[in-house]
Amino acid sequence: MIANLGCKVNQAEMDAVERLLRARGVDVLDPRERADLVVVNTCTVTGIADRKSRQAVRRARRNNPAARVLVTGCSAAVDPEALAAADPAASIFDNESKGELLAELAALLEPSGGRPMTGPAGMGGSVDRTRAFVKIEDGCSFHCTYCIIPRARGPARSVAAVAVLADVERAVAAGHREIVLTGINAGTYSDAGLGLPGLVRRILAETTVERIRLSSIEPQHVTDELLAVWVDSGGRCLPHFHIPLQSGDDTILRRMGRRYDTASYAALAARVRRTMPAAAVHADVIAGFPGEDDAAWARTLAFLRSLELAGVHVFRYSARPGTPAARMVGQVDSGTKKRRAAEGLALAAAARASFAARQVGREANVLFERPLGDGRWLGHAATHLLVSAAASDGASLENAIGLVRVEAVDPAAADRVVGRLLEVDRRPG
Ligand code: SF4
Repeated sequence: MIANLGCKVNQAEMDAVERLLRARGVDVLDPRERADLVVVNTCTVTGIADRKSRQAVRRARRNNPAARVLVTGCSAAVDPEALAAADPAASIFDNESKGELLAELAALLEPSGGRPMTGPAGMGGSVDRTRAFVKIEDGCSFHCTYCIIPRARGPARSVAAVAVLADVERAVAAGHREIVLTGINAGTYSDAGLGLPGLVRRILAETTVERIRLSSIEPQHVTDELLAVWVDSGGRCLPHFHIPLQSGDDTILRRMGRRYDTASYAALAARVRRTMPAAAVHADVIAGFPGEDDAAWARTLAFLRSLELAGVHVFRYSARPGTPAARMVGQVDSGTKKRRAAEGLALAAAARASFAARQVGREANVLFERPLGDGRWLGHAATHLLVSAAASDGASLENAIGLVRVEAVDPAAADRVVGRLLEVDRRPG
C-alpha cells in the first residue's frame, strides 16, 4: 500500500514506485485493505502537512500492525525524529536515500537477493491511466525566505534529457496521451546547455506524446522563448500555466525573497494572454506572511482580481523552523491568517467560476478520465478546466480526446462546464 502526500513531484515518485511494484507482480492495495508493506511519502511544506504526515505514519501502523512501514519524503528529510516517534518500527529514508528505499523494497520482495530494483530516471513516470507525471528536475536553489523545500530536497538537479525522453516514450507506450512535466523548480531545468524550452522542443520532435502540460513554473522562467515553443507546438503544449505569485504587495515579495515584483508579474500575465488568448493562468498566494498588514493583504486581493486568473491556490502562511521568515518580526496571528485565507478562497472560487462562465460558447479539447454515472464523462480541458460530455453512441470515453462545444456551467459545480461532443479520438485498440 502506498500513502502519498504533497506535491506533484511526490506523486511522480510514488507513481514510479507503484509501477515498479506492479512490474514485479505485487498487488498495490487500496488504503482500506490490510497490507504487508506500506510506503508513506511525506510532505513538510506547512505545519499541517507535517501533522498529516505523522498521522499517515500512525494510521499505516494502526491499520497494518504486522507490516513493514517505509517512510520517505520531505518531512522525513527535515524531521525524521517526529516520524520515528509516530512509529518506532518504521524505516525512515530522507529524499537523498530514496535509492536505498528501492533497494530495501527489492530485498523485501526477493529475500534471496535477486536483481536490484532500479527506478526510472529521477523516479519519474506514472501509472495513472490518462495523464503521466514525468519528473524532470528535483530540488531548488532559490531559498525563498518562507520555504523549507531546499532543505528537504537539496539544490536544483535536472534529470538528463535522454532519461526524460525515455520516460516520455515509456508513458506513451503505456497508453498515456498527456504528460505533466514536474519539478520542484522546473524552470531551472538545465542539461548540457539545454534549458526547459529546449527540452520541450526535443520532446516534441523526438516523441509522439499528444499533450504536454507544465505542473508549475516560476514567473521569471516564463520567457518569450518558452512561449514560442508553446505557440509552435501545434496544440501539443497545453495553454495552462501555474505561475506562483505568493503576494500582490512588493514589500512582502521582497521580504519573501521572490525574484520579481507585481509590475513584472502583471506584464507576464498580459504577455501570456497576448500570445495565447485562450490560455489559463493559475497562481499561488500565501495569506499572513510576516509583516503583511491589512493594507498589504488588500493590495494582494486587488492585484489578484486584476489578473483575471483561471484559478488561485491559497495557502495560510506556516512558519517552518529554520527558515528566515520564521524569525522575522511582524508574525501574523492565526485568527488574522485564517480570515485572510478565507477571503482568498472566496476570491479563488469566484475566479474559477468566472473562468468557467467565460468558456461557454467556446470549444474545448478534453482528455476524458472518468464516468460520472449519468452517461457523461469528465475530463480536463487543455486549460485544465473540468468538462463533462456524453458520447452519442454511449460508448466509453476513457482516455479519449474530444472536441467539446461548451454549452453551460455545470449546475452541480460552478467551476465545471458541460458540453456537446463534436469529435472524438479514441485510443486505437
Ligand atoms: S522557488 Fe522558492 S518557494 Fe519554490 S521551492 Fe524554491 S525556495 Fe521554495
